[in-house]
Amino acid sequence: TLQDRLASVFKGLRSKGRLTEADIDATMREIRIALLEADVNLGVVKEFVTAVKTRALEAELSKALNPSQQVIKIVNEELVAILGGEARPIRFAKKPPTVIMLAGLQGAGKTTLAGKLARWLKSEKHTPLLVAADLQRPNAVQQLQIVGERAGVHVYAPEPGNGVGDPIEVARGSIAHAEAKLYDVVIVDTAGRLGVDAELMQQAADIKAAVTPHETLFVVDAMIGQDAVNTAKAFDEGVGVDGVVLTKLDGDARGGAALSIARVLGKPIMFASNGEALADFDMFHPDRMASRILGMGDVLTLIEQAEKTFDAEQSRAAAEKLMSRNQFGLQDFLSQMQQLRKMGPMSKILGMLPGAGQFKQAINEIDEREIDRIEAIIFSMTPKERDDVAILNGSRRARIARGAGVEVSDVNKLVNRFVEARKMMESMAGGRFPGMGGMPGM
Ligand code: GDP
Ligand code: MG
Repeated sequence: TLQDRLASVFKGLRSKGRLTEADIDATMREIRIALLEADVNLGVVKEFVTAVKTRALEAELSKALNPSQQVIKIVNEELVAILGGEARPIRFAKKPPTVIMLAGLQGAGKTTLAGKLARWLKSEKHTPLLVAADLQRPNAVQQLQIVGERAGVHVYAPEPGNGVGDPIEVARGSIAHAEAKLYDVVIVDTAGRLGVDAELMQQAADIKAAVTPHETLFVVDAMIGQDAVNTAKAFDEGVGVDGVVLTKLDGDARGGAALSIARVLGKPIMFASNGEALADFDMFHPDRMASRILGMGDVLTLIEQAEKTFDAEQSRAAAEKLMSRNQFGLQDFLSQMQQLRKMGPMSKILGMLPGAGQFKQAINEIDEREIDRIEAIIFSMTPKERDDVAILNGSRRARIARGAGVEVSDVNKLVNRFVEARKMMESMAGGRFPGMGGMPGM
């Protein structure tokens, strides 16, 4: 899958300290193949690769990130841009009702979406009306009625006198009905075919002309891949589309279609449907879709937060102290911990790491209070004590425990763990920087 390929590209990058132009070229080649295999439109791929490469070569070196993280960051940002940047909400009409028309192929998920939209709008204090303008299939009206019932929303359907059999008349009638009964949003469900054809386009265009929608949404099954681009183009030319809704994102969608449609049409993806239940629905968030496509958990968020909060200078100073024996004290430990905490709750930070799913249980068991306790203990120490734990005799430990509101055994545990950890870090540092081995005491 695209996710797997990209993951392995980034994994290769992560082990590098510096990136050369050749590294970037090789990476971009992999990304290009990965995107093409995922059915992303060729034009979109070319544009994307060029943009990322240009930026990667010019990348300003950020202190907080290593070069491979920077490439990941650029790839992500360009992906978000291609997916439309920011979520685009519905534009409500100044004078109600706001008319939303749904168009797309049969089975795309229009009727289901109509119910989801209605349910969501209702929860936002709107009074939506569903309109059954799909009179193609015998049970289409009934399907919408069931959906409307589940959403708790009224359905306007053809009855004798409403214009039986003519979806255009039904659609037209629904607007007058909404105005009379003060519905403030009208959602028009239309018929689809299995493929694009002239009759379907004509009907959709006629319904559109009858109701002059504020939003015409093209609904597309995210699993249909490259075809989606051509279908979307046909609907945009034949009917005119304001936004796109991707459905069935809960399936094994490759993401390629999503990428291509937004860019090729130049229209925003507005909603994402991800299940059969009416609640399986959300605004489309390009940033979330990008991390889904990149398949990197929320590692991107982590990179961003690291960049924002991590003070590279301070970390370097701490690392240098660590190299010189015994200089790394509890004060340094405390500031490192505090920097990490600025990024969010520890369980959340760890949860964002790729592969964290496997360790969910352990991560959930991390006790924030334990970390609070550690902080409290260190706060109760004098600067001298923080610098040199060796001076912590029994009476000092008792005083610290009282100050921090913990048991002496808690203080002992922290000190022992710190000494252990420092030993381990020192031996790691010694191994990683062979040159240090020659220094006295290393
Ligand atoms: P329409 O022909 O465009 O009106 O499509 P429908 O709304 O009737 O949906 C076709 C089928 O897809 C139905 O079985 C729906 O339950 C299913 N469906 C719609 N949206 C989703 C979705 O987001 N996820 C999944 N898994 N199924 C969906
Ligand atoms: Mg339908």
